Amino acid sequence: MDFENNFVKPVIVMSACLDGDRVRYNGEILHNELVEKLKNFVDIMKVCPEIGIGLGVPRDPIKIYQTEAGYRIYQTKTGLDFTEKMKDFSSRFLDGLKDVDGFILKGKSPSCGASGTKIYRDKNAKDIVRMGMGLFDQYVKERFPLKPIEDELRLKNDEIRHHFLTKVFAFAQMRNLEKNTHSISQLIEFHTKYKYLLMLYNQSKMIQLGKIVAGYRKGNIERTVSDYAGIFYTAFERKPGIKKQINVIQHIYGYFSHRLSPAEKKHFLSLLKKYQSEKIPLITLLELLKSFAFRFDVKYLMAQRYFSPYPDQLYE
Ligand code: SF4
Repeated sequence: MDFENNFVKPVIVMSACLDGDRVRYNGEILHNELVEKLKNFVDIMKVCPEIGIGLGVPRDPIKIYQTEAGYRIYQTKTGLDFTEKMKDFSSRFLDGLKDVDGFILKGKSPSCGASGTKIYRDKNAKDIVRMGMGLFDQYVKERFPLKPIEDELRLKNDEIRHHFLTKVFAFAQMRNLEKNTHSISQLIEFHTKYKYLLMLYNQSKMIQLGKIVAGYRKGNIERTVSDYAGIFYTAFERKPGIKKQINVIQHIYGYFSHRLSPAEKKHFLSLLKKYQSEKIPLITLLELLKSFAFRFDVKYLMAQRYFSPYPDQLYE
């Protein structure tokens, strides 16, 4: 047996320009390495909100500015305000989304920007009041508050990318389970696989989820899965820190500690200390734990999503 690496394909909504579509205001074509890699593992649904509101390519740029009544988008050169059109387009597009597990939106854009968008003081101002989000992205966040939303700039950061992919893949597996569960054994298997990942993200929700599984009454599978999903989606809100990682690592280490030689134990504990003081990356410890799992043939651990929250090929 090897570590679990089968996944349901997540659905990711993506700014069309990130996938090489010629939709940018200046006609520029972008290439993104992560998007290219993701294509083999996720279903991508592309959207360009500015094309959606009827703008062409090339076009005069628009800007986002603040008012007391909220944000507006405006094309300085033509004097046209596109706020209502963007609102209508976003409602229609987001209403039509049935299965979606996450969003990758173009950073800094007045429409898509998931972060780093310049918010101007008023429609004619040249100075900005803050960096924020684009208008379309704001509607996405309102409609899908629990879904992972990132931009291509933040996803260059290893930790942010890891957290994003972990969530997107976990949500897709959960969504699939909601649609295709016919027996409690499927939910038990799911919960078992996610045990340590849930412990990492939110231990109290892991316990709540365990109680839902244990409280199953015959003939009530749909209700049980729906209750489970409702909590599962909220368990991944915060990116876990080193302390939580160490807690999980120590739990897993408990499977082998009594079978290791004193020298192996010493080596493990010294690596743990180095990880704690941020001198080595997490992967060093995970690989060591995985090698112990192989050696002692602990299938329960090999099935844990904690070790493979998303396909290995997306790790680099
Ligand atoms: S950032 Fe969004 S609105 Fe702008 S070109 Fe890309 S997809 Fe279109």
